[in-house]
Amino acid sequence: MSERTLIIIKPDGLQRRLVGQIIARFEKKGLKIAAAKLIKITPQLAKKHYAVHKNKYFFSGLVKYITSGPVLVMVIEGPKIIEITRKMMGATFGYDAEPGTIRGDFGTSQTCNLVHGSDSAKSAQKEIRLFFKPAEILNYQMADKNWL
Ligand code: UDP
Ligand code: MG
Repeated sequence: MSERTLIIIKPDGLQRRLVGQIIARFEKKGLKIAAAKLIKITPQLAKKHYAVHKNKYFFSGLVKYITSGPVLVMVIEGPKIIEITRKMMGATFGYDAEPGTIRGDFGTSQTCNLVHGSDSAKSAQKEIRLFFKPAEILNYQMADKNWL
């Protein structure tokens, strides 16, 4: 059963020209891009997206970071997509993330950790709705779907 998640390549990922390498990892794994766009997140949207963290000490820094430049937002589809993408991203802090993961391979920072991925089906649903209109999420079949 295919599921959906919201992935954001954060401002540092874009500025460091890692967009292609990050997407390539998801493609190699056999995941499907259902929607994608380059946007600059407004403070209002950032606060909604990160609402669960609103009382944390790092909240204002986080909003400043995520709104600091363009990001690539995507809806990605696949079986057990949330579990898979969270594993591929690695632990939150770059210095904790295992080698082989996106965060583990490309950084050491607590905040500038390159990528966001929804952490549960419930947050995926909320986050996808925040960033995409239903018509922007495409329904189509991958040519290799019977081989993956
Ligand atoms: N973050 C931070 N300092 C912290 C914890 C988190 O700057 O002490 C940032 C970091 O960019 C992280 C985001 O806030 O990705 C959201 O935190 P969360 O705990 O939800 O981590 P994630 O789900 O992204 O792994
Ligand atoms: Mg989170």
